[in-house]
Amino acid sequence: MIDTHCHLNDSQFDNDLENVINSFFVSGGDSIICVSADYPSSIKAKQIAEINDNIYYTIGVHPDDCNSYDETELEDLIITKSDKLVAIGEIGLDYFHNKLNRAKQIEVFTSQINLAIKYRLPIIIHCRDAYQDVLEILKKYSPLEVGVVMHCYSGSLEFARELIKLGVKISFTGNVTYKNSIKTKDVAKNIPLESMFFETDAPYLTPEPNRGKRNEPKYVFNTAKFVAELRGIDADELIKITDENAKKFFNI
Ligand SMILES: [Zn+2]
Repeated sequence: MIDTHCHLNDSQFDNDLENVINSFFVSGGDSIICVSADYPSSIKAKQIAEINDNIYYTIGVHPDDCNSYDETELEDLIITKSDKLVAIGEIGLDYFHNKLNRAKQIEVFTSQINLAIKYRLPIIIHCRDAYQDVLEILKKYSPLEVGVVMHCYSGSLEFARELIKLGVKISFTGNVTYKNSIKTKDVAKNIPLESMFFETDAPYLTPEPNRGKRNEPKYVFNTAKFVAELRGIDADELIKITDENAKKFFNI
């Protein structure tokens, strides 16, 4: 199985990164996409991907770090990429953590969308309390031809359907397994299988029954099994479909 979104470059993995990666593969994992949130984590993601088989990487600046964004710096990382660069992300808008710099967030988000279009790379979107603005930007800048995934989706089913109509993929983390995530369960149960895939967002958002522990790529199976049960389908069958979706999306 593929963990389509994991922060192996997070300092929480500095002491046991090799063990974390090994236990994922021992558990039957196929590949991991190491996702970045700023310039230093993008460099680190590339290094991790370069020395490990079946680990790919992304580069990008998260909305929480939009003040550190430099377009030339990011474009240099694309020009000097390895063949394991698979996407731009995570990028987007976060009005939950920061309501006061919306204009700056939008500027940094659209700049990265334009780079993704220029270099034909799909994008991974982080969106919190900003679905309407994200939708408008997607319609205006049309990155849909290169591929768009809404990571850790937590919006409504209605909104998910609107995104899917545009060709956007929906990705689920461990938070779909949480007791209070009723809306997310509704989405996971009802959207078409060809529009979804799974991720851990490790070290964050550990799925049940390990909630509270540090998250790891190997727990991606727990999220997939949970959603398979929700939908009343076989977990292996679900994983086969969502892995195919992810492979096609990231071109791996
Ligand atoms: Zn993330």
